[in-house]
Amino acid sequence: MNLVDLRSDTVTRPTKEMLNAISYSKLGDDVYQDDPTANQLQEKAAELLGKEDALIVTSGTQGNLISILAQTNRGDEVIVGDMSHIYNYEAGSTMIIGGTSLFPIPNDSTGSLDINDLQNAKKSDDYHKPKTKMLALENTHNVAGGKVINLTELELVTSQARRLSLSLHLDGARLFNASIYLGVKPKKIASYFDSVTFCLSKGLCCPIGSIIVGSREFIQECRRWRKILGSGMRQVGVIAAPGILALDTMIDRLAEDHLNARFLAEGLSNIKGVLIDPENIQTNIVRFNLSKEYSKKSKILVSELMKKNIIINPSKDNFRVVTHHDISKKDCEHFLLSIAKILKN
Ligand SMILES: *Cc1c(COP(=O)(O)O)cnc(C)c1O
Repeated sequence: MNLVDLRSDTVTRPTKEMLNAISYSKLGDDVYQDDPTANQLQEKAAELLGKEDALIVTSGTQGNLISILAQTNRGDEVIVGDMSHIYNYEAGSTMIIGGTSLFPIPNDSTGSLDINDLQNAKKSDDYHKPKTKMLALENTHNVAGGKVINLTELELVTSQARRLSLSLHLDGARLFNASIYLGVKPKKIASYFDSVTFCLSKGLCCPIGSIIVGSREFIQECRRWRKILGSGMRQVGVIAAPGILALDTMIDRLAEDHLNARFLAEGLSNIKGVLIDPENIQTNIVRFNLSKEYSKKSKILVSELMKKNIIINPSKDNFRVVTHHDISKKDCEHFLLSIAKILKN
C-alpha cells in the first residue's frame, strides 16, 4: 500500500516528465549567467508575474531573506504579520545576516493585517528608532490555514503601505494557490508588490528551488546577496528544467488539491470529536482541532495513522494536513475512514 503523506506539499516528488526534462536540459554555468535553462525559467517566471526579471534561489526562506536584504540596510526594520513564516519559521535570518529587524503586528484570521496597526507600526523619523522600510505580506497564509487575501484587501493594505512610503514584499510561497482560488492571473496579485518569492518545491512538485521576481535593478542586487550567501550555483539548469515544466503544466492542477482539501474538511466535520468549519478551507491546507473530550487522542493519533500508512505532523491540539499532487481522492477517503475509526475506539 502506498504511503499517504499529508504533512506538507513539500513532500511531492518530481514527476517522470520532470526527471526526463532534467536529463535533456541544456546546461551552462549560471555564475557566468550562461545556463540557458536557468535563463529560460527566469524569463518565464518574470513574464508570468509581470515583472522585469527573476532569479532562481535555493529555497523560499532564502528567497525571502534575499528579497529583504536587497531592499533594506543594517538598522532598518520590516513590518510582518505575527503569524507569518518570515517572522516565525526563518530563524531570524534577516536579523542575523543583514541587521534588519522584523516588527510583528497581528495577523487576522485571513492572514491580512489591520491598516491602523500598520500606520502605528511605522516609526517616525527619529534617531532613537529603527527606520521602517518595508512591509511583507504572505498569500496564501500558512498559519491562517491556507487562507487567501483577496484583491480588495490587498489593495487596501498595500495602498496604506505606499502612503507610509514602505516598499512591499510578498512571501508567495503558495502564490499560485491564491491565484487559482481567486480566479485571477498571478501577475495581478504580484502587481501590488515590488518583490515576490514563490516556491517551485511545494505544490508545483519540483525537487528544489524558489524564484524571486522584481525590477531588473533589484534582481541584480539579489544576485549579489545570493552570492554572499554561498548560493551562486553552477549548472543550475538541473533545478530549473523541472521549474519550467512546473510553470507550464502544474499550476492549473492545484485546483484538484483545493477540491481534495475541501472534501477532507467536509469529511472531518462529520466525524465526532473533530472541530473544523469546512467553509474556512480555501486552498490546499486543512487545519483542525480535536474537541476537549477527545484531546487525549491527540497523543496517539499520529502513531495510529502511521499504522495505516498515513503520515501527519504531530501536534498538541491543532493538526494540519496538506493536499498535493501525490494525494488522490482515494487517499483522502482512506484518511477519513482511518481517523474516524481511531477516534471511535
Ligand atoms: C514553505 C514556506 C516558505 C519557505 O520555504 P522553504 O523552501 O521551506 O524555505 C516561506 N513562506 C511560506 C508561507 C511557506 O509556507
